[in-house]
Amino acid sequence: MAKKNRILITGAAGFLGSHLCDRFIKEGFRVVGMDNLITGDLRNIEHLFKNPDFEFFHHDVSTFVHVPGELNYILHFASPASPIDYLKIPIQTLKVGSLGTHNLLGLAKEKKARILVASTSEVYGDPLVHPQTEEYYGNVNPIGPRGVYDEAKRFQEAITMAYHTYHKVDTRIVRIFNTYGPRMRLNDGRVLPAFIGQALRGEDLTVFGDGSQTRSFCFVEDEVDGIFRLLMSEYHLPVNIGNPSEITILEFAEEIIKLTGTKQKIIFKPLPQDDPKQRQPDITKAKTLLGWQPKVSRREGLKITYEYFKSLPQEVLYQREHKNFDQYIK
Ligand code: UDP
Repeated sequence: MAKKNRILITGAAGFLGSHLCDRFIKEGFRVVGMDNLITGDLRNIEHLFKNPDFEFFHHDVSTFVHVPGELNYILHFASPASPIDYLKIPIQTLKVGSLGTHNLLGLAKEKKARILVASTSEVYGDPLVHPQTEEYYGNVNPIGPRGVYDEAKRFQEAITMAYHTYHKVDTRIVRIFNTYGPRMRLNDGRVLPAFIGQALRGEDLTVFGDGSQTRSFCFVEDEVDGIFRLLMSEYHLPVNIGNPSEITILEFAEEIIKLTGTKQKIIFKPLPQDDPKQRQPDITKAKTLLGWQPKVSRREGLKITYEYFKSLPQEVLYQREHKNFDQYIK
């Protein structure tokens, strides 16, 4: 029997990381998961612990990363990923995107592994080009509340390209747009868990600003498939992976009201600083280079996600803060 490939996935206990672990186990890989559990949750991967092809290291990748044995692939998905997380743990957000990426590129060089780093639509900031193509340089405020995430991810892209050019490391960069699905943290402040959590608790839905800002939501299974295809491709420049179906946040709130059948109403709250006004990926590259496009409609994806949130224990529904933050906030 052919030897199985071994892949390191950082951020393995997070939303995207845990789905990636599942996908790579399914594809016949040996998976090494790594997470410091600031925002990740072991419950997302506990079903994998009995699998002989899965190992887990509790480690912060912003410090030196050591993995014994061979590695064929690395996926760097460790990072806080929600605007309220960046506000609470800004230094950790900067470190994992910069120092963490540096450590993992060094590991990839040492192990001669192919590495894919998780970048983001946030590199486009509050975009002045619509929809966003990979060629657009972005409109980012470096000192705004989102700057710690956006600039760390922009640095991440720069250092990844530098390792590609100067050290000939085999690199991939995915720019991920808003993604949703089971295992999102109900209390992470992002719009989908916020609205569904509010509906489940019988609270009004809080639309920020007038709700005319847009987003484009991709179901996690589609996102993971795009990432898988990019890793297996020979293309080293950034590729947008997201769902181009764009919707205003007000319309999105109305969809959640319909989905959940809540009798609550929409209330308006101030728009956070530097909140992007519009966001939609141009996925021409993903289509032509990877033969990828999303398959799951928002209707189907939201239904699956709602069922997941409904199945969570009551205490999770009322837990406002993430339990692991306290120990990291000094
Ligand atoms: N938003 C909202 N109500 C909420 C949470 C978020 O109206 O309770 C808005 C937010 O201002 C933004 C959009 O929803 O315009 C998406 O926010 P999210 O935090 O999910 O991610 P972003 O795409 O801004 O990084």
